[in-house]
Amino acid sequence: MCVETAFPVLFADESTHVYIHEDVVAAFQQARQSGNEKERFGVIIGSKDNGKECYWIEYLTEPYSGDDSGFKSFTLKDPAHQAVVDQKFKESDGRLAYLGTWHTHPEPFPAPSSVDLRDWSKCLSRNDDRQLFFCIVGTSEFRFFRRQNRKFHQMKMTHNI
Ligand SMILES: [Zn+2]
Repeated sequence: MCVETAFPVLFADESTHVYIHEDVVAAFQQARQSGNEKERFGVIIGSKDNGKECYWIEYLTEPYSGDDSGFKSFTLKDPAHQAVVDQKFKESDGRLAYLGTWHTHPEPFPAPSSVDLRDWSKCLSRNDDRQLFFCIVGTSEFRFFRRQNRKFHQMKMTHNI
């Protein structure tokens, strides 16, 4: 396990570790959806250790005006998300890349809906060269999911301190 204090939260399963930067943790906490607010969502951006299944989530995007946002659905339509990914990729000489999506649910311990699972499968088929992670921000917890052996599972959260 790597120790990096700027990454206070870690999601893991038997083969993969995902560290979350404190700014991203703070953004997830701020994005929590209360009763009558619309869903919030965006992409997550980070890096991977060479040769190890160890990922570092460092940036995210949030809804832009060109997106479609409802109470139970969203579509990442605004090209600004891709523009941020491209900019981070360029600034970091290719170290930072698109690593998945996040969105909010108005429930404390969020579970993916059938729409989420379909959407995540589409994201994976468009990016079959890499591992992707999908975060759902509930009103109490935020959770990370990934697909392994054709099924999505929830990764286990720990505090990296
Ligand atoms: Zn959802």
